[in-house]
Amino acid sequence: MPSIMWFRRDLRLRDNPALLAAMEAARAAGDGEVLGLFVVDPVLADASGPVRRQYLSSSLAALDASMGGRLQVRTGDPRAVLPAMVQLTGAASVHVAADYGPYGSSRDSAVEQALGAVPLIRTGSPYAVAPGRVTKDDGTPYRVYTPFHRAWMRHGWRSPADDPGEVAWLPLAGGERPPTAADGGVVLPAAGEQAAWERWDAFRADGLADYADRRDRADLAGTSSLSHHLRWGEIHPRSLLAEIGEGEGDAVFRKELCWREFYADVLWHHPRSARASLDQRFDTRMPWDTGASADDAFTAWATGRTGYPFVDAGMRQLRAEGWVHNRVRMVVASFLVKDLHLPWQRGAAEFMHWLRDADLASNAHGWQWTAGCGTDASPFYRVFNPTAQGLKFDPEGDYVRRYVPELAHLPGKAAHEPWDALDGYAHGYPQRIVDHRHEREAALAAFATLKGS
Ligand SMILES: Cc1cc2nc3c(=O)[nH]c(=O)nc-3n(C[C@H](O)[C@H](O)[C@H](O)COP(=O)(O)OP(=O)(O)OC[C@H]3O[C@@H](n4cnc5c(N)ncnc54)[C@H](O)[C@@H]3O)c2cc1C
Repeated sequence: MPSIMWFRRDLRLRDNPALLAAMEAARAAGDGEVLGLFVVDPVLADASGPVRRQYLSSSLAALDASMGGRLQVRTGDPRAVLPAMVQLTGAASVHVAADYGPYGSSRDSAVEQALGAVPLIRTGSPYAVAPGRVTKDDGTPYRVYTPFHRAWMRHGWRSPADDPGEVAWLPLAGGERPPTAADGGVVLPAAGEQAAWERWDAFRADGLADYADRRDRADLAGTSSLSHHLRWGEIHPRSLLAEIGEGEGDAVFRKELCWREFYADVLWHHPRSARASLDQRFDTRMPWDTGASADDAFTAWATGRTGYPFVDAGMRQLRAEGWVHNRVRMVVASFLVKDLHLPWQRGAAEFMHWLRDADLASNAHGWQWTAGCGTDASPFYRVFNPTAQGLKFDPEGDYVRRYVPELAHLPGKAAHEPWDALDGYAHGYPQRIVDHRHEREAALAAFATLKGS
């Protein structure tokens, strides 16, 4: 009797404990054949933007190629597809990496029920340390990152799983090919396990040592650009942690991986926080802007036409590449919430639509951190000045000129302040839609109304 390896957010063969478990079970129950399956779940597919669909289709094609073309793809509700595949193959067990997201965990419970006597076996997760494992001494979850990080380091993680070697993939006639998604209009990097390892190897060789110094600079390629590979499990954080050394850049990089684990942990403990503010006053009492002018402001922000060069460069990078530098994500998020007075959920949804690394936990909590309503949030009164941030983290204006052609004629840091240049608006760059100083005061006044409530 074969077993089924149901791939979801773990589109790789190396360092994949669930795959090893599937192989082991298949050897124990028969001739060791494993059916490799991906289910295109309409619920998730419909909720994904074109960028994620496009990236997923390339990643599945890469996985299929690494399996010698044996990946089985089926479209449908997993509660129906999995039992049908078990019946078709006579599989004795179904293997997955545990999903800790709100939708994924309840879907898995439902699939488990639908499978009846055939077990759904969870081995491993997309994290080095699974959500819920790192707790305070009294068993309660951490709400603040720094002590979580200390405890996470103390807890430690397993070594990478063994190489699976040759997998006896069960051949099956029929089925679907990995979906080919329409071009999302975004230039995407190569997908798949091999591309992930090549990216990591290049970053480890050339970027890791300087990571602590360069990671905040929007104009430099100073970060790993691994987030989409981690999002789809083309490489596991445990594999990276095993290769990280003791240098300063290594330590900072390890801390960034820990932010991903922290936010997954927070979401696991507070599933509603995917869409609701952890500080509920932000959803019930904050006087957000509404109506047609709010919609116009949102559109200007989303399309990179606010008149603030660093913000506009970021939002245009999002639509061009499906990725934005972390510093710029914070600045554009702060601008939406504190300069335009719009709820973070609107911006988070826009990010989920466009980001190639869109991840519910990191996104919702990255937004809540910036908005000041999340776990360990930056205080609301810390309002990013979009121009000062640009001058600091893009000191020569290169980042702005790369994404905002209307400002390409302004040399050096002048690109950040077109209002100071005689020809600043000569090529159609829009005027500022709001006055930052004024909106900062308005945001603080709105926040003051929450106090004591
Ligand atoms: C408003 C906002 C929304 C965000 N949405 C997402 C998202 O949907 N998906 C996502 O993966 N990251 C998100 N982030 C975190 C961060 O911006 C990206 O992980 C990072 O920019 C990815 O680039 P990189 O791989 O080069 O990062 P690197 O700097 O090389 O970091 C290495 C890895 O650490 C993790 N990481 C780094 N910073 C963070 C962080 N602040 N929070 C969580 N994980 C982190 C990522 O997995 C990243 O790939 C968001 C941040 C903000 C402020």
